[in-house]
Amino acid sequence: MKYSKLFIQTFKEIPNDAQLVSHQLLHRGGYILKSGAGLYSYSPLMQRVVAKVKQIIGYELGQVNCIEISMPFSTPAELWQESKRWDELGHLMVKFQDRMNRYLCLSPTNEEAVVDYFRKIAKSYKQLPVCLFQINTKFRDEIRPRFGLMRAREFMMKDAYSFHMNQRCLDNTYDQLYTAYNNIFKTMGLDCIAVQADGGAMADSGAKTHEFQALATSGEDQLVVCRKENKAMNSEMAITQRAAYKTDMSTKASEEVLTPKIKTIQAVCEFLHIELTQSIKTLLLKGQRDNKQVFILACCLGDDDINLTKCSAVTQVINLENAQPEDFKQLNLFAGFLGPINCSTQIAEIIFDSSIDPAAAYVMGANKKDIHYKNVVLTRDIKQLQRHDIRMAKPTDVSLNGNPIEFIKGIEVGHIFQLGSKYTQALKAAVLDENGKAVYPLMGCYGIGVGRAIAAVVEQSHDQKGIIWPQSIAPFSVIILPLVLKDNDCKDSIDQFYQDCLANNIDVLLDDRNVSVGIKFKDADLIGIPHQVIFGKTFKENKNVEYVHRSTGDKRNIPFNELLGFLKKEIKG
Ligand code: ATP
Ligand code: MG
Repeated sequence: MKYSKLFIQTFKEIPNDAQLVSHQLLHRGGYILKSGAGLYSYSPLMQRVVAKVKQIIGYELGQVNCIEISMPFSTPAELWQESKRWDELGHLMVKFQDRMNRYLCLSPTNEEAVVDYFRKIAKSYKQLPVCLFQINTKFRDEIRPRFGLMRAREFMMKDAYSFHMNQRCLDNTYDQLYTAYNNIFKTMGLDCIAVQADGGAMADSGAKTHEFQALATSGEDQLVVCRKENKAMNSEMAITQRAAYKTDMSTKASEEVLTPKIKTIQAVCEFLHIELTQSIKTLLLKGQRDNKQVFILACCLGDDDINLTKCSAVTQVINLENAQPEDFKQLNLFAGFLGPINCSTQIAEIIFDSSIDPAAAYVMGANKKDIHYKNVVLTRDIKQLQRHDIRMAKPTDVSLNGNPIEFIKGIEVGHIFQLGSKYTQALKAAVLDENGKAVYPLMGCYGIGVGRAIAAVVEQSHDQKGIIWPQSIAPFSVIILPLVLKDNDCKDSIDQFYQDCLANNIDVLLDDRNVSVGIKFKDADLIGIPHQVIFGKTFKENKNVEYVHRSTGDKRNIPFNELLGFLKKEIKG
């Protein structure tokens, strides 16, 4: 390919909203162009990277008998109504009506569509297991689209879905996909770990699921890693143990204490001269259960934080969030003085974190303005105690076996789930088993964010000058930089070498632009092609070509007649 025909533009300026290096470099290198919030065009350079990633994905999935299909970008409302997710997914889903007033949405994911596809074909156990994948566009109306391709609204996803007659078969495919994912990310050059994750509203509760997290300090996800046990979990669901803490084992009767205008748990503890661990923090949360709004109270130790994902899993309340001032008003509750005793009858559930000692005495809000209780003992003063692990893990914790843990940041580039029969049941996609009985197959689903994974590669692989593509997904393997254009002899050799590359299936980009040497060098570094070949002074002098390895910076002179052989070896690695 000749640079002059590529129709790309590199930029010096960084867009105002580009905080992440990957966003900056993909923009500056002419890979992506923003067309709206969370909406990006891919340039010819980017398309070449995408094509290579698609090929890697296709190859690895092919190895585990996962076959490619394609489903529509929009899905009819009826399918989502069957699964009851039409309302559940909330504003994430963009809904619209066609000219016949039928409702559709831009697919944020395709479980419903694939089950519909499956039920139109599968009738018998003999057709299972089957694993289907597609690589296409998804739309999620993210609250805060940001970080370029990392959290876009319209983005490219590889999504795969598998169907099984029994758990053993699902486990088998799940493990195969797990391995395929490791291979895909490794081939892409990503430093990635698989972590235990939370299935959220996606699956039957307690289902097995892993996220593939590319390690990067810019990552949005907090991972909890125990190196000794070789275990990693997303902090959304990490179960750890608190380090020992001070408790008050007093058996005095509980009593009210005046705490005028003292609203934060920190201030209350300072005021009463007690440790944070001798107090209970209470949060009012709201969400939906069975399509109705519900409120819950979540209580943890004063120095802990409530984990909404865990609360959601325990209560089966979805879209859980902190209540707003108007909710407090509605329930006649007082922010800052909230507690689990004498609380509003409109509270559906009260949950205590299991690290609260039920026999110890605690300070907590009294649900009266300016008043807290002290000496509350849960087993004595509260009738029904629901205790679960609902706290956020924190760096001072240890693993359940007492080993040290670390907090590391990651970018979720892939996610695999065991879905159970949630969707096959909802959409009545039964097949006949060996005894002629109708059963609902078990499903697995497996996603990769293609754009996000490419951005993650850039996060991990760049320097001050620009992107450093791993060979496997580089838009071109070699860039030719002719610095002496006027010399005919030189021009012929460049043309010959360019043709030789094409004939040998080497992806080559010839910078044939009539621009300064400085611009050519800068752009070559910025767009990040792994091997640079420079026809300059040394070529005129003694037919030596200068070679620069983008990643290592290694420079050397190669005699022109050895150049092709040398590059072939370098590209092979
Ligand atoms: P996140 O927690 O980051 O919002 P998710 O868990 O909702 O992502 P999944 O439903 O698991 O995402 O989707 C599969 C994959 O699609 C993710 O692992 C991620 O790589 C990618 N992905 C999800 N949302 C986006 C987005 N807004 N922009 C780009 N890629 C995304
Ligand atoms: Mg996910």
